[in-house]
Amino acid sequence: MPEFRQNPATRQWVILSPERTSRPNCFITPSKSADAKQGELNCPFCPGNEHMTPPETLRVSNACVVLGNDKWSVRSVPNKYPALAYARENGETHENFFVKVQGNGCHEVMVDTPLHFQAMHEMSDSQIRDIIFAYLNRYREFITIPHIRSIVLFKNAGAMAGCSIEHPHTQILASALVPRDIQERLDIAIQHYEKHDSCLYCRMLDMELREKKRIVLETEHFVVFHPFASKSPYETWILPRRHTSCFGEVTELEALELGFLLREILRCFGEELGAFDYNYLVQSVPLNGNGRVSTGRYHWHAQVIPKLTMPAGFEVATGMYINPVMPEASAKTLRSVVIW
Ligand SMILES: [Zn+2]
Ligand SMILES: [Zn+2]
Repeated sequence: MPEFRQNPATRQWVILSPERTSRPNCFITPSKSADAKQGELNCPFCPGNEHMTPPETLRVSNACVVLGNDKWSVRSVPNKYPALAYARENGETHENFFVKVQGNGCHEVMVDTPLHFQAMHEMSDSQIRDIIFAYLNRYREFITIPHIRSIVLFKNAGAMAGCSIEHPHTQILASALVPRDIQERLDIAIQHYEKHDSCLYCRMLDMELREKKRIVLETEHFVVFHPFASKSPYETWILPRRHTSCFGEVTELEALELGFLLREILRCFGEELGAFDYNYLVQSVPLNGNGRVSTGRYHWHAQVIPKLTMPAGFEVATGMYINPVMPEASAKTLRSVVIW
């Protein structure tokens, strides 16, 4: 059973999950991280190998005709090597110097496509629709699970981004604890609301639209920009125009537009950067453990982060990142290749 442990010096929680060492390519080594490819042979996410994963929680088949596959276009399964495991009761906290809590949570993998080598920017509208509605389906389901307090939806693409299986997939990891960074962001948003009687992220959106320098793309429902204090080159934010705290509260139109935006941003990165590894993630409000959001003062958003630099000794020591690319310059570059 995994467990959460808190570092007494930093108050940062860590998930200790020894089961995960059994998964393929668990540790990054220079030979793996360069360009090692696994291929379709024995891939647990390829059609025909469905028996290699735990039983499905969701199967979508709308776009399967487009893909020449009569079975499925997206499927979601529990992670075979979960970072957290679900328990009906929350485990006891041991309140001595070393604090640990039972690693209560849920971890699923969504297989984005039956095609082993299909990148997201090559996908059709109907495939994007299937993927994004699968995200929403699983996210909304996870919200209802008792004790769950934070949910992170993320994609690791490429070894540099922490990916252990190259077949395109997305993960959703829900936890009975609120990780420190998420709690900190929430506290800052609440403090801003109390001081200014307005949402910090709505204000950021206004400021970015006024300055224009870091905007990549404006659409009906979202603004895409490179943040003022970007931590790494080409860090891209997708902020919804409508103030909503929780990703689960998006409309179908917003969700669909988000999918098309992710596809377009990845296409632009490819055009500008060539081959690249990346993460994307959805930052959403923590929950109160009973299927309700903890506050309406947060503003959900998505981030796309190409892995162009590695955190080095200074970043590890300080938590302060050194970014060699000005966000004004990277936003201008991406603006010039956007097709919308
Ligand atoms: Zn595969
Ligand atoms: Zn807002």
